[in-house]
Amino acid sequence: MARMGERGVGHLDEVLDNLGVFRAAAEELVLLCPSGFRRVPISQGSEFYFSIQALAPGQIAYAHTHPDSEEWTVVLSGTGEARIHGSVPLGPGSVLGRAAAYPHGFRAGPEPLYLLSIQAPRPTADATTWDEPGTTSDPIECLGGGRCRRCPRCGGHAALVRRFECENCSFEL
Ligand SMILES: [Zn+2]
Ligand SMILES: [Zn+2]
Repeated sequence: MARMGERGVGHLDEVLDNLGVFRAAAEELVLLCPSGFRRVPISQGSEFYFSIQALAPGQIAYAHTHPDSEEWTVVLSGTGEARIHGSVPLGPGSVLGRAAAYPHGFRAGPEPLYLLSIQAPRPTADATTWDEPGTTSDPIECLGGGRCRRCPRCGGHAALVRRFECENCSFEL
C-alpha cells in the first residue's frame, strides 16, 4: 500500500506518465474474477483517490463506512445497486453521490458492473468500519495467475502473496 500522497505501483497514472495519452475501455483494464471484486487504482493523493471498481455478475462489496471521506461513483457499464439506506438502482451513466459517514455497499446485477470511484479526501483505513459480516471463498487458481480467494471484510479480490492479501482493503487472511 502506498503511503499517503504517494503513487502506488500499478496505478494507471504511472502508465500515463509513460504514454502521455492513454485510452482504454474499463472492461480492458480489469480482469474480473469469481473470487471477489476488483479495484484498479488510477491516481491518489492525500486529498483524493480515483479508481475503477469492477464486480462480476452478482458479486457484492460488503457494506462499510468511511466517516472521513465522501464518494462519487459513476457507472461506466452494467447494472446493479448501491446499498445505502436500502437499495439505490444503478445503470449505465448513473452518477451516485454519497456523503461521508453513510454506510454503503454495492452489488452487481446479472452482468458485470464497472464503476469509476472518486473519493475525497482519500479514506484512511483506520477510520473505516466494516458493517456487514462477510464470508471468504475457497482458494482457486486465478485467471490472472497464482491463487486467490474472497476478502471476508470487504468482498474484494485477495491474491496469495505470503498470505492472501486484499487488493481493496489490504486485509490479510
Ligand atoms: Zn482471482
Ligand atoms: Zn478487503
